[in-house]
Amino acid sequence: MLAQRSTLVRLGLLLFVLAWLFASDLRSAIPIWLPFLVALGLELHFFTGAFREAPSRVPDRGPQPVDLDLYGYDPEEEELDDLAEHDYEPEDDDDYYYEGPPRHPVRSFVVGLGIIAALALVLGLVDRNSGWSGLDDSKQAVASRRLSEEASRVAEKRVTIRCDESGGRVGAVQHADGIAFVGGTVAYLTPQVCFDLYRLTYKHEAASNRTGRALAVLAHEAWHLRGVSDEGRTECYALQSGVDVGRRLGLSTGTSRRLMRQQLAENALRTGSTSEYRVPPDCHDGGALDLHPDTSSFP
Ligand SMILES: [Zn+2]
Repeated sequence: MLAQRSTLVRLGLLLFVLAWLFASDLRSAIPIWLPFLVALGLELHFFTGAFREAPSRVPDRGPQPVDLDLYGYDPEEEELDDLAEHDYEPEDDDDYYYEGPPRHPVRSFVVGLGIIAALALVLGLVDRNSGWSGLDDSKQAVASRRLSEEASRVAEKRVTIRCDESGGRVGAVQHADGIAFVGGTVAYLTPQVCFDLYRLTYKHEAASNRTGRALAVLAHEAWHLRGVSDEGRTECYALQSGVDVGRRLGLSTGTSRRLMRQQLAENALRTGSTSEYRVPPDCHDGGALDLHPDTSSFP
């Protein structure tokens, strides 16, 4: 039973990793470390469970018929029985009576950890050779220039977009997809955001929510460079500019608008530490922050 369950967990993790690699919507919905953490927890659970669920029957270590034939009796019989009750260790030849916990909990646990580590390694290698860092330098340079152009239009001055591969400026640690100094000329985006925009521009691939987020991040940093510091206000302007940026990078106006509206809807759900990014109440059609008060579409 337990052995089957851990096989299921390992199979489940493998399938998830494969799905995660190929379905970009899944990538944006679930961080990859989560299934690994769950799998690790379950392996640990099975491992400790194997000891908790001590076998209900202990092996019969009494004399085997062949021994009795040879020796007639077994002087250590009592001692062995005593030992068996306290120091049970499953063995290969136990399986005919032994069902339930894996026969080798330690081995099973180590195998489980090995599979998890191997999958993480494969994932790391695939991810390194795909995505932004998988692009050659010239493609990266062309794409960066294109994104800089778009940001410059929004910022209304010449600015530069850099895709920060070092992770030193943007990334998971800073909990930010992009960073820019207010009124400055350089903004840094995560390789993930850059790659989503690259795919949209050069491969005409739009992964709905993720593409929308990437457009919003680019426009957001551009508005910071333009001189707006308030996060909510910046985001309100960004979602409106994002429609044009998306259109120029290859989306239809309708799709681009839909993506920005989706971002606006998600923005309203921001709470806690991210609530400063929530757009102000006057971020609506005809409101004080409407960049095009003459039109009825928003953003
Ligand atoms: Zn910001």
